[in-house]
Amino acid sequence: MFFAPNPENRSSLALRLTIWYTAIFALAAAIVFASCYFIIASVVQQRTDDGLREDIDELRDLYHAEGLAGLKEELDAEVASDGKEKVFYRVIRMDGRIALTTDMSAWRDVPTQREVLERLKARTLPVIETLSSPDREYPARIAYGRLGAGDILQIGESLEEDDAVLAAVRSSFAVTVPAILAIAGLLGWFMARKALHGVVEVTEAAIDISKGDLARRVPRTRRGDEVDRLAATFNNMLDRIQTLITGMREMTDNIAHDLRSPLARIRAVAESALTANPSVSDYRPVAADTIEECDRLMHLINTMLDITETEAGMTDITVEPVDLREVINDACELFEPLAEDKHITLSCSADQPTIIHGNRHLLQRMLANLIDNALKYTPRGGSVSVVLARESGKVSVSVRDNGIGIAREDVDKIFERFYRCDQSRSEAGSGLGLSLARAVVRAHGGDISVQSHKGEGSRFSIVLPLTDEDH
Ligand code: ADP
Repeated sequence: MFFAPNPENRSSLALRLTIWYTAIFALAAAIVFASCYFIIASVVQQRTDDGLREDIDELRDLYHAEGLAGLKEELDAEVASDGKEKVFYRVIRMDGRIALTTDMSAWRDVPTQREVLERLKARTLPVIETLSSPDREYPARIAYGRLGAGDILQIGESLEEDDAVLAAVRSSFAVTVPAILAIAGLLGWFMARKALHGVVEVTEAAIDISKGDLARRVPRTRRGDEVDRLAATFNNMLDRIQTLITGMREMTDNIAHDLRSPLARIRAVAESALTANPSVSDYRPVAADTIEECDRLMHLINTMLDITETEAGMTDITVEPVDLREVINDACELFEPLAEDKHITLSCSADQPTIIHGNRHLLQRMLANLIDNALKYTPRGGSVSVVLARESGKVSVSVRDNGIGIAREDVDKIFERFYRCDQSRSEAGSGLGLSLARAVVRAHGGDISVQSHKGEGSRFSIVLPLTDEDH
């Protein structure tokens, strides 16, 4: 069931977490049980030692009251009731002689009198120590206490009962520890599975998406925990990817559409040239038309490549000091005849030399696109103005017209590749001019924005950073 031997289980994070939980739990349990065992063992020993001390006190009283004879009677009775293997008593004189002893046949490993006397020199309080030897099944506690008048009482007590208590504790641990570990393992497994449930869902969603289901999203728990945040981030990423893919699909459609029209025209002229059986001189306009359409196609493709290259950054683009005043004045001069043709007033205000580090050719193309658009989308009699201004650390160029303007819903989209507002479809164009303009401005570290009202005109504003020495 849970630990079915499949390779996924063996390498799964849940299984590894469970093993870690259980190992840590086992270690903690071992430490707790070891400390408990130590405490119980010392309490049991303390109890035995207290009993031995009490015995010494009582027997001392008896010794003083009834002498050695009375003591002997009492000690023999004790040994008879407890058993000679369990207890022994003897009284040793300071000169090493044994004054009194019970049956020591089971206690041959007890130290000699000389060692006992050595140990008790200059001690009035009882001494208690443990005696363990290979001949004896259970260890024993040996106590020594002064009776007075130079006699020492030695009591030996087998720790068989203490050992039985500790054995019971050990066997109860031996039963409970594995049971607790098994429960900890199961609980750990369930907890790990529960905690990783969200990750499993993200994985399943990723699998579905990799199969093509782009609309799939990971269900949110709304608990705000790590997994929920992972799901939210994953869903955001999917939203972005979906938008990008949709955008790319639209762009591919647009490219296909924009390429199809010139190709269709090329085919049509070629076809009519073939079917009309013309003379060699009739082929001239056909060839001219074909070249014109091919140029248009090449221009379109080159502009797309330029945008991609410029968006990739300025690393491969030549950068030089460029005077924007010059670029603006040159552009105005270039477009003046076109403006005159359309009876549009084109005014340029760029008096101060303003040097920035950039690519002259790209900046010229960017400005030409903006002025070309302003002239294209402004009716006869209108006006277009280009203004250069310097602010702190920045330079701004604005291209303003009082033409047809841009509808509110189109304003955010006009910088996208191939986007053309419906109202301007009658004008020639590819929908790439503003995309290139934005790529150029961004590659120069600046930004471009537009303010426009339908029917009132538009104002494109570019802000570019000035390099330090230009401030
Ligand atoms: P196009 O080749 O169509 O001019 P652009 O990328 O330069 O492509 O512009 C995208 C669209 O933005 C245009 O098709 C037009 O609808 C709109 N647009 C750009 N500039 C202006 C302007 N000055 N006034 C009104 N609309 C404009």
